Amino acid sequence: MIGKSLLYLVGLVGVVGWTGAVNAATAVGPICDQGARVGSTTYYSCNGGSHNALDMSNGTCSEWNHRGMINVSKYYKYYGGCANTCGGSSCNGGAGNYYVVSGGSGWEFRQLHVNSNGSSGSKTCDRCPLGLVGSTGQSTGAHVHADNRQYGTRKTAWYTSVGTTCGSSAYCGNRVGTPTL
Ligand SMILES: [Zn+2]
Repeated sequence: MIGKSLLYLVGLVGVVGWTGAVNAATAVGPICDQGARVGSTTYYSCNGGSHNALDMSNGTCSEWNHRGMINVSKYYKYYGGCANTCGGSSCNGGAGNYYVVSGGSGWEFRQLHVNSNGSSGSKTCDRCPLGLVGSTGQSTGAHVHADNRQYGTRKTAWYTSVGTTCGSSAYCGNRVGTPTL
């Protein structure tokens, strides 16, 4: 009886999965500086607590563009209102100024901690400037945080599947992942 119920549940999840079309996108690094690197992946600073996202930096604050990472035109919804800083704050729940690209079946791709400038705001674009590399929200140093979530749970396959790890290039010409959207 338990086995039969479990089979039914698995079947139901399979059917639900077909209701929203999702596709693998390609994400490149967010900073057009050859020195940009990945500093955190599944764990903060590579060996700290659970993170399940990419943190990328070129060691500067407010000197470089924070660019859209998806390599085709997508709608980036902007959530702003956080003061530009190279330190940290709890603004927007710790996300700081951020963007969300929404896909099917609860999937999202997000880029956090943007220092806003004249480029910031909701828009449809392909790898365009979204603001400056900064440290708005819960962040102790200027960087770009990128994650791929489904119904709010951060997934790791989008970057582990292409071999992105600590020290990988976060240059805008380098593929860092294949997020689901
Ligand atoms: Zn992060």
